[in-house]
Amino acid sequence: MATAGIIALAIGTSGCGDSGKDKKTEPALSASNMDTTIKAGDDFYKFANGNWLKNNPIPDEYSRYGAFEVLEEENYTQLKTILAEASADKNASEGTVNQKIRDFYNSGMDTVKIDKNGISPLKAELDQIDAFATKADVQKMVILQHASGNYPLFYLFSSQDEKNSNQVIAMTYQGGLGLPDRDYYLGDDARSKEIRASYLKHMAKMFVLAGSTPEQAAKDANVVMTIETQLAKISSTRLELRDPKANYNKSDLAGLQKIAPEMDWKAYFDGIKLQATSEINVGQPKFISGMSKMINSVPVADWKIYFRWDLINSAASSLSSDFDKEHFAFYGTVLSGAKEQQPRWKRMIDQTSNSLGEAVGQLYVQKFFPPEAKKRMTELVNNLKVSLGERIQGLAWMNEATKKEAEAKLVKINVKIGYPDKWIDYGSLTIGTDSYYANKKNARQFAVNRDITKIGKPVDRSEWGMTPQTINAYYSPNMNEIVFPAAILQPPFFFMNADDAVNYGAIGMVISHEMTHGFDDQGRQYDKEGNLHDWWLADDSKNFEAKTKVLVDQYDSYVMLETLHVDGKLTLGENIADLGGMNVAYNGLQKALNGKKDKNIDGFTADQRFFLSYAQVWRANTRTEETMRRLKEDVHSPADARVNAIVYNIPAFYAAFNIQPTDKRYIAPENRADIW
Ligand SMILES: [Zn+2]
Repeated sequence: MATAGIIALAIGTSGCGDSGKDKKTEPALSASNMDTTIKAGDDFYKFANGNWLKNNPIPDEYSRYGAFEVLEEENYTQLKTILAEASADKNASEGTVNQKIRDFYNSGMDTVKIDKNGISPLKAELDQIDAFATKADVQKMVILQHASGNYPLFYLFSSQDEKNSNQVIAMTYQGGLGLPDRDYYLGDDARSKEIRASYLKHMAKMFVLAGSTPEQAAKDANVVMTIETQLAKISSTRLELRDPKANYNKSDLAGLQKIAPEMDWKAYFDGIKLQATSEINVGQPKFISGMSKMINSVPVADWKIYFRWDLINSAASSLSSDFDKEHFAFYGTVLSGAKEQQPRWKRMIDQTSNSLGEAVGQLYVQKFFPPEAKKRMTELVNNLKVSLGERIQGLAWMNEATKKEAEAKLVKINVKIGYPDKWIDYGSLTIGTDSYYANKKNARQFAVNRDITKIGKPVDRSEWGMTPQTINAYYSPNMNEIVFPAAILQPPFFFMNADDAVNYGAIGMVISHEMTHGFDDQGRQYDKEGNLHDWWLADDSKNFEAKTKVLVDQYDSYVMLETLHVDGKLTLGENIADLGGMNVAYNGLQKALNGKKDKNIDGFTADQRFFLSYAQVWRANTRTEETMRRLKEDVHSPADARVNAIVYNIPAFYAAFNIQPTDKRYIAPENRADIW
C-alpha cells in the first residue's frame, strides 16, 4: 500500500541472517573491506567495497544483504531483549502496553495452536463471501473488509490536503492487485510472463489448501487473474503516481458518486464510520471510475472468488504453516530470490513492531537510544541546513527571486530526531491470548480507526510516519519536514565518536539527501507550507528541467544484470536527492574542517574518508530476482548506482582519488550533472 506523503531513504529491508560481529568494536572505516586491485576511477563502488562484497555472501533468508541488513540484524538482537523480557512478564496487568506486547508476540510464536487452527480463523469472513448473491453484496463485502483494515479493490485513508496542508481529508488510492506492480500483468517480457505463470500456480495451491479440488482451484486462479488484469489496465504506472498534480483531484461526495456511480459511496462512508466526507482526494479517477464499471460488469460469482483470494492471500502469513510457507515460496522466493524463510522469532518481532509500533518503540528508545545522539544530530542538521543555504545562494542557474523562496522553504524545514514527543495511546486496542489472527485483525482495526478519525480535522504535526526502531529516514513534502528515527542513528550511518569526514559521508549525506527532497522534481512543486503551489519563475523551472535531464540520461544508461537499465525517470527524485545530498554534505564537511589541514586517518585524507564512508553505506549483495524486482518497483536506484552514478559527477571526488580522463567512469566536466 502506498504510504501517502512520505519519501523514504530506502525501501524496507526484509530477511535476516547472522552477522555474528559486534560492529561497535570495528573501526568506522576498514581498508580490509576495500578492493584496491580495482581503480577508484573505474568502479568506485567495488574499489570501496569489493572485499566486503566477496566476504559476505547473501545468507539464505535474504534477497539482499548489505549495510542496512547488517544493522537490521543488530536491531533484531536489541528488540529481542525487549520482547524476551515482555513475553516472560507474567505480572503485566490486563490492558497495559506490556500485556499487549507480551500476548501479541506469544500468540504469534505459538505455532502449535496456529497450525491446529489451520484456515478456521477466516471461517466467519469466508462464510460472508459464500453468502453473496447480488451486486449490493459485493459492495457490502468491500465495506466490511475496508472497515476491518483489509483493502480489496482500492484503498481509502487520511491524507493532508495537497493545497491546504493544515487540513486532513480522505483519499482514495488504486489497489486490488496481488502482484506488486501493474506491469507484471501486462508486460510481454520474459520475467513478467514467468511471474504470471508462477502466480497462477501459487493461487491454485492456496485454493487447494483452503479446501478446493485441484480442478476448481486452477479455474478460480484464472478468474482472479482476469479480474486483477482488468484492474491493472486501469491502474496508473509508478511513474504516473510520482506526479503530484495528476494525483490530486479533490471532490465532494456527489462528485465521487459521479466518477464511480456503481458504488453507493454514502453507504460506503457510513459503513467505514467516516463522518466527515465533505472533501475527498480521488487519487486516480481513471482507476476508481474503471473499478466502478467492473462492479457492474464482472459476474457476482467471479467477485466471490476474487474476495476469497484477497482474504486468504492477505491473511496467509498469519495462518497455519502450510499457508505461510506457500505464501513465502511465491512472495519471498519467486519474486525476491530468498531461499529460506526468516526464523519465526524475527518475523514476530517485525509483526509486533508493526502492530504495536510506538509501544515497542518507546521501550526501544529507553533502552538503546542515548540522549547524546540527539544532541549531535541536531548540530549536524543545523550545519547542513546552512550548507544547503550556501549552495542555493551559489547557484548560477537560478534567479534571485526563486532563490529567496527556496531559502525560505529551507529555513522552514521542520526536523524530528529519534522518537516522537507524544506516543500513540494503545488503550482501545484489545490483544489477547486466544488467536494470533484475531490479534492481528484487532491491531489492523485499531490502526484504521485511528486513521479514519483524523479525516476532517486539522493536521497533528507531532505525528511520525515511521517508528523509532525503523532503519530509515524520510522527507514529507506536505509537512515540509525531515525525520530520522533512532535506529538509523547507529553505525555505519552515524558514529558517535568517529571523525567528521566519516559522519558527513554517511549520516551527513542522509540528512542532506532528505533536505534535498524538498527541492527534487516532486518536492519543488510544494511551497514552504507544504502546499502544492508553484513558487518558481518560469526560467528557473526550465533550467531545473534541463539540469535534471542530464541525470535522467545518466541513470537510463546505467546497466544492471548485463541487459537491464535503471529507470532514470522513476528514480529521478531519489537521484536528485543523492547528488544534492553529497554536494551539500561535502560542503558541510569543509565548513566543519574550517580550513584545518587534512588529518590523515589510517592512510586516508578527510575527503577520501568522506567518499569511502558514503560508498560503505550502500554496499550490498543482491539476488538477481530482487534486482529485477527493484528495478521495476523501487524509486531508489540499485546500491552500486547510488554510488557510481553519483560520485563521478562531483569535482572534489576527482581530486580526492586523482581520477584521470583515461579512467573508465571519468565524466568530462561539461557533461557532469550538478543541480543543488
Ligand atoms: Zn530519498
